[in-house]
Order: sequence, then structure tokens, then C-alpha cells
Amino acid sequence: MLINSIVFSNIDHPKLPGISIFFQGCDAQPKCGNCHNPQTWEFDETYFVPYKFLLERVKKDLSFLLQEYDKVSLNFLGGEPLSKINRGTLKMLSKDIKSMFDKRVTTLLYSWRKPIEIHKQRLLEFVEHIDEFVLGRYLEKYKSLDAFPASKNQLYITYYQLQEIISIIEEKEDEYADINQL
Ligand code: SF4
Repeated sequence: MLINSIVFSNIDHPKLPGISIFFQGCDAQPKCGNCHNPQTWEFDETYFVPYKFLLERVKKDLSFLLQEYDKVSLNFLGGEPLSKINRGTLKMLSKDIKSMFDKRVTTLLYSWRKPIEIHKQRLLEFVEHIDEFVLGRYLEKYKSLDAFPASKNQLYITYYQLQEIISIIEEKEDEYADINQL
């Protein structure tokens, strides 16, 4: 996996202080207008970080914050955490952190992908240990200065809500398949 940076953050989760991991590499085509992180676009192998090192660093930073707060967040941003090279690490790290800290750490994933893309690209299995999502592109024309998420078109939903949306999409796909067979 490719990691651009790991930082303490008070702005990436709407309620919780936390740690934000910025993955390196973005597969959005075209790129979002006025992207805040163009330095994360390239799939640059010089940003490779061994998993063991990443896990230890994140554990250490979360433990430090949990001395001060009851609950904190672990935020995954980019770049694109669900890009091919990063999604395996996203799954492994979110699973390992949830098994260590359980409800004391809320995992939050930012992705340009919407639920339909997560469904069509069969990515649900990579986000099983993500509690909350901000889904959809950042669009300057929907920028909202004081609200969360920062772009009004983005969906802020839970894993349960994502599953519900994908079930509805699947039902509609089955209906269309039935209609096409008439
Ligand atoms: S998905 Fe994120 S990193 Fe990629 S272009 Fe859009 S805002 Fe920038």
C-alpha cells in the first residue's frame, strides 16, 4: 500500500478527534475540480510503507489519543483508499484496529465512489470494518463551508445504511432483469 501521510485531525470526523491516514494514489477519472490533495494523485511507489510499520504507528497514535478521549476516529482519505493498490490494506487495517479498540475507535472512509460504484465494482467486502462513510466526489459547486460533509452532494452514511442502499440497488437490478425477459 502507498501512504502519503498520517496526521492528528480535528476536522475529518464531524464529532470526534482522531487520526487521518492519507493514502497515496487516486483513480478518479476525471479528477475532482479544485481537489485539495493533488499531491496524492500519483501511484508513486516511493510512498510504499510496510504493513507492520503502519499498524504499529496507528496503534501508537490512537492509544495516545485514547488517554485523553473516550472515543476517537480513524479516518481514511486520499488519494483514494479504495483504489486497487490500497483497498487490501484498508480492509486489513480497519479489521485489525476494530478488533483491538472496538467501539472506542470509529472508522470513517472518504471515497469518490458512490454506493452504486461500490456495488458494481464488488468493493463491499473491503469495507466490512468501516463504521461510517463520506461517499461521492468533492464538487466545488456544492461546497458548503460550515456543514459536514464539505460538498453537499456527498453522502454521510453508516455501514448499515450502505448495505441497505446496495440491497435496494440489487432489488432494482433483479426487477429490470425480469422485465427484460418478458
Ligand atoms: S477523489 Fe479525492 S484525491 Fe482524487 S481528485 Fe477527488 S478529491 Fe482529489
